[in-house]
Amino acid sequence: MNTTVIRGAPVSSGIARGLAVVLSEGGLATAPRRTIDETEVGTELAKFQAALREATQTLTALQQDVLLKVGRREAAIFDAQILMLRDPAFISEVQTRCATKRLNIEAAVSEVVQRFTEMFGAIDDVYMRERAADVRDVGRRVLDILLKQQTAVVSIPEGSIVVAPELLPSETARMNLGAIRGLVTERGGKTSHTAILTRSLGIPAVIGAAQATTLIRSGDALIVDGTAGTVFVNPRPAVVAEYERLEAHLRSYREELREQIDLPAETPDGTRVHLAANIGKAADADAAALFRADGIGLYRTEFNFLIRDRCPTADEQLVIYETVIARIAPREVVLRLLDLGSDKALPYFPLPAEPNPALGLRGLRLLLAHRALLDAQLEAVLRLAPQHAVALSLPGVTGPEDVRAIRGALEDVRARLREAGCACRDRLRLGAMIETPAAAMLTGPIAREVDFLSVGTNDLIQYVLAADRTSHEMLAHYDPLHPAVLRTLKAIVDAAAAESKPVSICGEMAGNSAYTAILLGLGVRSLSVTPGEILEIKRCVRALRLPEATALAADLLRLDTPDEVRARLAATSVPRPRDPGAS
Ligand code: PEP
Ligand code: MG
Repeated sequence: MNTTVIRGAPVSSGIARGLAVVLSEGGLATAPRRTIDETEVGTELAKFQAALREATQTLTALQQDVLLKVGRREAAIFDAQILMLRDPAFISEVQTRCATKRLNIEAAVSEVVQRFTEMFGAIDDVYMRERAADVRDVGRRVLDILLKQQTAVVSIPEGSIVVAPELLPSETARMNLGAIRGLVTERGGKTSHTAILTRSLGIPAVIGAAQATTLIRSGDALIVDGTAGTVFVNPRPAVVAEYERLEAHLRSYREELREQIDLPAETPDGTRVHLAANIGKAADADAAALFRADGIGLYRTEFNFLIRDRCPTADEQLVIYETVIARIAPREVVLRLLDLGSDKALPYFPLPAEPNPALGLRGLRLLLAHRALLDAQLEAVLRLAPQHAVALSLPGVTGPEDVRAIRGALEDVRARLREAGCACRDRLRLGAMIETPAAAMLTGPIAREVDFLSVGTNDLIQYVLAADRTSHEMLAHYDPLHPAVLRTLKAIVDAAAAESKPVSICGEMAGNSAYTAILLGLGVRSLSVTPGEILEIKRCVRALRLPEATALAADLLRLDTPDEVRARLAATSVPRPRDPGAS
């Protein structure tokens, strides 16, 4: 068998080896394969018949609707799909695979649909080739119905490499993430939430791998090189041996990093850097504690909402937050208010369809428009006992009025709690996320309203450069080294210093050691990164000569293009990340 090599963008470093589980469009439409036992065959076949009936009903209703609203010719398009649901060849092939090969019904449908699609696609006749799309479409409809009959959690076999067109956070949240060894997607951006999640879980991932779901079949042996952005399909023994060598090298590199664990994040000239962790769930707080994080600089609370089928109540949130805080106490947890909207959607909280969701109802705007959602979260935070070291940060702030609106909401909730005789905190440190150009320009006035600032470079870069953080096509334009980004960061740091308010960087830029010297040179002294990145960033800080970093940043700020910035960086001797893959 020939090794196919697919190239994409590396988003979460490391090497993963395992068998592919290919998910089709819509994220979870292809169920993982499993062998069933004889007693299950009857149930599986009955599920199939029920799914065929439901799909026929839906398609017939759709056809009627199109007939009334559009016309007869257009409605006739559905005939081919309805016929396929009755096609004896299709039905009997699915039944045979299930009954004789002992395949779960979802995998049987998926395989037969794949075979029929290929068969039609190969026919040298335009009309027949177009039927391939009908087969795919109708197959997906049946699979969707079957998968809805399953439990909410999609079970991925232990040690799999998931291959998908794209994964939305709500979809990843429904998977047993612990079983996933690697991830390959055709679309997505470097700071998309799935990319962030893979980094926080330490799952090697490659995105923008063109045609991955077509070239890879479930069950193929894969090597995912999340450092180089390469995926090997059914690799030759020589490639496997090469990667085994690299894995051994990476293991010893990690061992070496472990020696940093008890050392302070301090430059050789004695400047201490506050090195906190970004987390999304309680288990991440354990990782943060393990790596001796100086607290939690960003607790993304969305995950708690994503994994449920409804919003957690204030009582439930209180328990969740107490659990997280207890795991890192006495160090502080900066809990960020729910940042919904754009690429962070909840299946049970439909948002209006907007042409540009990243510029629409999201973050603070959304919370202020949905007071019940905001108030429940504020209530949970206010009910945290006063001895808990917790602070609240606000996503997507555009000006001081946003902070005042939240203060007002906090006062309302506090008054309501007191009236009901419920104990609540008097004092809560409040911070603003600086992640919009408006907030960057108004850093001073915002700083006067809050106790601290956190720079969300993921959003800030996308908004400053008008380059979608989730888009693969925008990868080349989404550039942390763009002079406009560097100058914006400098302006924020200076404005915060003028108001004597601490500022920290909590976007992905903080966790990439390629930028550590620049950020420290710009005057940043507090970073919040994924737990797994703490030791590497600490290693970089401890090797850094601050006067050189300051001079470097000053030089970069005088340059006008990303190319000039890169050329200047290439000529610098300031410590940069070490390539753990190099021999
Ligand atoms: C950011 O925008 O940099 C940030 C930290 O928030 P998120 O990635 O959750 O949008
Ligand atoms: Mg953000």
